[in-house]
Amino acid sequence: MATEEGVVEIATRVQRGELTAEAAARRSLSRIAESDGKLNAFLYVAGPEALEQARAIDDKRRRGERLGPMAGVCVAIKDAICTRGIASTAGSRMLAGYSPPYDATVIERLRAADAIVVGKTNMDEFAMGSSNENSAYGAVRNPWDLERTPGGSSGGSAAAVAARLAPCALGSDTGGSIRQPASFTGTVGIKPTYGRVSRYGLIAFASSLDQIGPLANDVRGAARVLSVIAGPDPRDSTSLAVPAADFETDCDRDVAGLRIGVPEEYFGEGIDSEVERSVRAAIEALREAGCSIRPVRLAHTRFAVATYYVVTSAEASSNLARFDGVRYGLRHAKNELHAMYGATRDAGFGAEVKRRILLGTFVLSAGYYDAYYAKAQEVRALIRRDFEEAFREVDVICSPTSPTPAFRLGEKTSEPLKMYLSDIYTLPASLAGIPAMSVPCASTRSGLPVGLQIVARPLDEGTMLAVAATCERRLPSRHLPPADSGLPLGQPDGRSPAPPEAGRDDEDA
Ligand code: GLN
Repeated sequence: MATEEGVVEIATRVQRGELTAEAAARRSLSRIAESDGKLNAFLYVAGPEALEQARAIDDKRRRGERLGPMAGVCVAIKDAICTRGIASTAGSRMLAGYSPPYDATVIERLRAADAIVVGKTNMDEFAMGSSNENSAYGAVRNPWDLERTPGGSSGGSAAAVAARLAPCALGSDTGGSIRQPASFTGTVGIKPTYGRVSRYGLIAFASSLDQIGPLANDVRGAARVLSVIAGPDPRDSTSLAVPAADFETDCDRDVAGLRIGVPEEYFGEGIDSEVERSVRAAIEALREAGCSIRPVRLAHTRFAVATYYVVTSAEASSNLARFDGVRYGLRHAKNELHAMYGATRDAGFGAEVKRRILLGTFVLSAGYYDAYYAKAQEVRALIRRDFEEAFREVDVICSPTSPTPAFRLGEKTSEPLKMYLSDIYTLPASLAGIPAMSVPCASTRSGLPVGLQIVARPLDEGTMLAVAATCERRLPSRHLPPADSGLPLGQPDGRSPAPPEAGRDDEDA
């Protein structure tokens, strides 16, 4: 479904000269100025830089040069992604004021496609979290209900897109950090196949899972951003030697005949009844579009949370060792070197990051390595094998993205385990390294978005997008937060938003 303010529409209008890049940038900047005081989605608004970029794009057009596929499109960038000369803090005090001397590969590619970097978005510190409450710079609020979380860790990127502060954003996803915020904010979020998108310039959390991906206000827009940022990169040795594809054409593919797998393990204890009903209705809509639906088993799902927290904490404890007060950011000077390390790391890292460093150091330590880290790697292989077996029978797997809609700020902060369990449906695809995305499929009675997760075979983002685009066309989902959210929003065409829908058979909807 094309949205009036979607990536593709804006780029087309700018390419044709119907809209200047400068006007597009000013529009985004003024929306940020109006609304971000309430949302806290941005850590840095790149006003002057964005306008300068926009003018350069307009000049290019005036000179008769062809503009790229992101012409004049504002992109909000998660603060874990390095932007040259623009502060990149990863949501941590440790990197307050740190300005990288280079652009991440994804930023280079966006700029080369004539996109505009409009600012850096708030996030859980070093991407560790599911609610954005672990940011050193305050929580982000969900534009659909300001008392609720937009999810995490890419909460700022998701809130920015949902509130129409930018048509698209980049996030990073290690265990769900693009998909879960997308589902909580009614946006589209893609975690590509591991290696599809370069990690060069992404501040590392857990390197064997981290992937950068797009969030956008429609499927086609997300597909376009993915086409621009994907592809091999000699600066990231884990990037795959697979050329970027044109993922937009996949959005028009007919899904008739596709086999959709539904894992009962993803509809278990703790699932919200409205989420379950909405997702089952979405799967039914795919059946009506000609897909066949069959159950699949992902038997090791129940080990995913434990496996994920052992593997990612181990990698994080190693990756975060570089923040020692010597090379980057914060330094608490002391007379003795170890005292300086200790004081710097104590002051620079927040509680959740410290918890993971401790956990990671423990599972890697002599005597515990085999029992925890090596064991977790074995279970990770079993989780991957579950998917390989399932994908012999089906083409994609559909499930809820998250067991619940957006929860209230503060609801889970005192119980880390409860917070960790909320990622149960997104972690397995991350451990397996396979592509997964969230597409809005309904709203609850109280008007909160619900996301459908679509998981595909390695490098088969195309089929995943075909299914997502079909859902978008067939399912009633609202793309704008309600006018009474306290934000000065409202529909661009002046109409009031459609009533929430929890499923087609829901007469109360
Ligand atoms: N919520 C998960 C965690 O805290 C996932 C985070 C992510 O994907 N970056 O680790």
